[in-house]
Amino acid sequence: MQLRKTRKIHIGKLVIGGDSPIAVQSMAATQTQDLTATARQIEVLEKANADIIRIAVDNEKDIEALKILREKFPDSTWSVDLQENYKLAPLVAPWVDKIRYNPGHLFHLEKDKSIREKVQFIVEAARENQCALRIGVNCGSVDPDYKEKYKNDSTEAMVRCAVDHCQMLDEMNFENYCVSLKDSDSDKVIDANRRFAAERPDVPLHLGVTEAGLPPEGIIKTRIAFEQLISAGIGDTIRVSLTLPNDDKGQEIDVGRELLKDISEGRFRSVPENFLDGLNIIACPSCSRVENDKFVDLAQDVRKMTEYAEKYKLTIAVMGCRVNGPGETDDADLGLWCGPTRVNLKKGTETLGSFSYEEILKELKKEVDQMILEKFEALELN
Ligand code: SF4
Repeated sequence: MQLRKTRKIHIGKLVIGGDSPIAVQSMAATQTQDLTATARQIEVLEKANADIIRIAVDNEKDIEALKILREKFPDSTWSVDLQENYKLAPLVAPWVDKIRYNPGHLFHLEKDKSIREKVQFIVEAARENQCALRIGVNCGSVDPDYKEKYKNDSTEAMVRCAVDHCQMLDEMNFENYCVSLKDSDSDKVIDANRRFAAERPDVPLHLGVTEAGLPPEGIIKTRIAFEQLISAGIGDTIRVSLTLPNDDKGQEIDVGRELLKDISEGRFRSVPENFLDGLNIIACPSCSRVENDKFVDLAQDVRKMTEYAEKYKLTIAVMGCRVNGPGETDDADLGLWCGPTRVNLKKGTETLGSFSYEEILKELKKEVDQMILEKFEALELN
C-alpha cells in the first residue's frame, strides 16, 4: 500500500485525507420529502456505521424535510447533493457538513452568470457554515464545454474539468474540498483518478464506480477500481453504488468496509478473465429521484431475462429517473430509463418508445434479439 499524499479536510467531526482512515459513505435512495421512508433509510445507514450519509435536495420543500430529519438525527455526518439547483446552497449549508456540486449541472440555471460566479456563490455558502465541498464530476453529465473540447477523450474532459474547478476554489482561498471522478466503467474510473492524482496529489479523492449495478457484478466492478487505486495511495473516502432495495442499502457500507479490509491486508481477488467481455448490465443505485419503486425489481428482471445473451458484448443500462436517465443511457447499446408509469427504451442515443412496466421486458427482448442478429450473427457468418 502506498501512502496517501492528500491534505486533510474536515467534514463536520470527520476528517478525511492524509493518514486519516478511509471513510465509507452511502446515500439515501428515498424521496427526501417522504419523512418516514427517509428516516428509515437514515436509520439503516446509521446502523451500518456509515461515516457519511448523503441526501439529495432539489427544492425548498426538500430543505424543509431536511431540517426536520436533522433534528431527529443530530449526530451523523451529512452530505447533500445539490443536483441542478446550485442556488439552494446557502439554505442547505446550515444543516449539513458537506455539499456536493456537479460542475456539469451549473449551466442549467441563470445562463447569464458565469460558472465562476456560481462557484463563488456555493463557496461562500460553504465557508459561512463551515461546510466541506465536493466537486463531483460524473461521466453522464460532463460540462458541455469540456465535452466538446475533449470529444476524443472523455476521461480527459472529466479530469480537466475537475482540475479547473480545483483551481477556482484555490483562487477563492477555499481549501476544505475533495473531488470525485465517477464513471460506470471501472477502467475509466482508474484512469481518471490516476490522471487527476498525478496532477493534484494534494486534493482528497472520493472514489466510486457509478451505476455499478446489481450485486455481485456491481461489487466486482467496484473491487476492480478500488484495488487498483487504493493500493496506489489514491482514495480518501469511498462509496459503493449498488442497485438494492432501500432496506438493504446498509450493504453498500458493509461491502465498502470489506473491500478496504481486504486491500489493507493484501487480499486481492483476481477478477475472472473476460469478466466484462460479455453482456454488461449497468444500473443506477437509485436515489430520491426514483419515481416508481418497481425500478429495483426491473433491474433484477432485466438481468434475469437477458441471461441467454450473456456471451454477447452488449451494454444495457437501467436508470431510475428522467433527470439523469436519458443522458446516462446514451453510451449503452440499449438503455431503459424509468418514469412514474412508463419506461423509456433507447438504442444508443435514439429513443425507441415508452412502455408500461409490464410491457418493457418483452420490448427489450425484441431489441436484444435484433442487436444480436445485426452485430454478432452477421460477424459469425462473415
Ligand atoms: S439515474 Fe436518477 S434515480 Fe438513478 S441514481 Fe441517478 S439521479 Fe438517482
